[in-house]
Order: sequence, then structure tokens, then C-alpha cells
Amino acid sequence: MAGEPQADCLFCKIVAGEVPATVVRETETTVAFRDINPQAPTHVLVIPKAHYADAATLASAAPGLAADVLREAGEVASEDNAESYRVVFNTGSGAGQTVFHAHAHVLAGRGLQWPPG
Ligand code: AMP
Ligand code: ZN
Repeated sequence: MAGEPQADCLFCKIVAGEVPATVVRETETTVAFRDINPQAPTHVLVIPKAHYADAATLASAAPGLAADVLREAGEVASEDNAESYRVVFNTGSGAGQTVFHAHAHVLAGRGLQWPPG
């Protein structure tokens, strides 16, 4: 069912505390933790606790929860004193999505090239 935990999902396991993560913020509906392979001094993943495969699926099924994720992305950047930051939702394997539980990458702390690669 939409939003239910998936047994084979790494990020559902992080939500459940079954896989360790460096959690920087947690709300009733979201968790934010440092990316294990950081691409910038600040590289934090913000996820909804509920499982949705990608950002658009999340926004369609639970728009308030999608807003929670975006708001938390801003809070993470502000806690790392980042005035400028980038929020990325890789969607689909061709765009580099490897974990099919919606997540926002929050990147900051270095020059961020535009357009991105
Ligand atoms: P994506 O490639 O957009 O699906 O993003 C998945 C991200 O999860 C990658 O940047 C990985 O480095 C990161 N990642 C994978 N496993 C872990 C983990 N156990 N803890 C934190 N981040 C992880
Ligand atoms: Zn999941």
C-alpha cells in the first residue's frame, strides 16, 4: 500500500533504526541524515518516513509530506549555516537514482556549478 514500509528498502531500514545513519534532524514525518558518500561539505538526505518511490509519486500521494521534506531541506541548510544550497531529487536510474525511496539531496558548502552535470 502507498506509504507502507518496504522490507527490501534501505531508507525504510534507516527509518526503522535497523541500519545506522548520522541523523541530523528528525520530525514526526521526516528524517535527515548525512550521505555516506558526500559530494559536498554539506550533503544531507531528507526523506519522508513513509515509503514513496520518488519525489513526484510522493507529491501526488501526500503533498503535505512533500512540503515537509522541502521545509526540512531548508532547515538542514540553515543548521549548517549555508546561505546557498542545492536540493536535488534524482528520479529514475538514468538520472542516478539508486534508492527508490524518495529523498532530497541537500548540497552546500562549496561552489555549485550551474548547469549541473
Ligand atoms: P540516489 O543515487 O539519488 O538514489 O541517492 C542515494 C544516496 O544514498 C547516494 O548519494 C548514496 O551515497 C546514499 N547512501 C547509500 N547508502 C547510504 C547509507 N547507508 N547512509 C547514508 N547514505 C547512503
Ligand atoms: Zn522505503
